Amino acid sequence: MALLKKSIDYIIASAPAALLAIALVVLMLPVIAGCTDGEGSDDRLKVAADIFPLADFCAEVGGALVEVETLVPPGATPHTFELTTAQMRFLEEADMLVSNGLDLTPWAEGIFTRTGGAGTVEVVAGEAVPEEELVKIAGSGGGIYDPHVWLDPDLAMHIVEAIRDGMCEADPENAAVFRENAERYVARLGELDARIAEEAAAFSTRKFIAFHSTWTYFARRYGLEQVGVIEELPGKEPSAGEIAELVDMVEARGVRVIFAEQQFNPRVAETIAEESGGEVVVKLLDPLGDPGDTRSDTYLKMMERNVEIMKEALG
Ligand SMILES: [Zn+2]
Repeated sequence: MALLKKSIDYIIASAPAALLAIALVVLMLPVIAGCTDGEGSDDRLKVAADIFPLADFCAEVGGALVEVETLVPPGATPHTFELTTAQMRFLEEADMLVSNGLDLTPWAEGIFTRTGGAGTVEVVAGEAVPEEELVKIAGSGGGIYDPHVWLDPDLAMHIVEAIRDGMCEADPENAAVFRENAERYVARLGELDARIAEEAAAFSTRKFIAFHSTWTYFARRYGLEQVGVIEELPGKEPSAGEIAELVDMVEARGVRVIFAEQQFNPRVAETIAEESGGEVVVKLLDPLGDPGDTRSDTYLKMMERNVEIMKEALG
């Protein structure tokens, strides 16, 4: 800009009026083109989020001021996902990264350093949640915290507030908008929390087996009991012996429901249900949502839908 100003000063001092007008237009062309590139969206904050629920929080807090890219596509599992080249390119230009942390997406760690991008603001959901709220994964040898914090709407409020703070840091000029949006959305999370609590209080059975430890925080919040999990660590298929133990557990504890997940093959869950003598149902829940499915294209809808399915099974 300093150079541009100098050139304009020079022209004003030395050229006749007609030439001056032409020169000004020519000089301003790159500036005008720069502003209209991408439908005037240049100044939107570019935010990358590892999983869709966190991307949705970003969209709620940032509104029209942000462009959000979800790194894990619908149907994929964050635990084993790897970045594509196109996503690496988005990250090079991103201003902010929101990741879950707690080892859910180890590939997202240090991403800004690896892509060499300009982004500096990082928000980690697992660090936004007070440490005393975190739960260790059973069978992990004691060291690993359960990463599925976003599935408790009360913990989600902490995450939304951390995203708000990150956006205020990345784009201080719009801080008032981010604060207002976050406040409104946190209130909606509070309403969701109250609705789920009311529904869950009326369930006739509170016990279930889960595909993996997905519903740990959710179950704690609403007084449900995740009696056991099929895969203690995602991607680690249970042995025949472990399946037999789960069948015993289902029978001994009177479990009637196994919650499998859209992102994983329900085969093992079905085997356990079949081998258990009683009437055990397998229901598919969705912990990640899907921007292409109108029933779960926001966190709020995704949670409402999960609760509806839980109600059919546990109600
Ligand atoms: Zn998971």
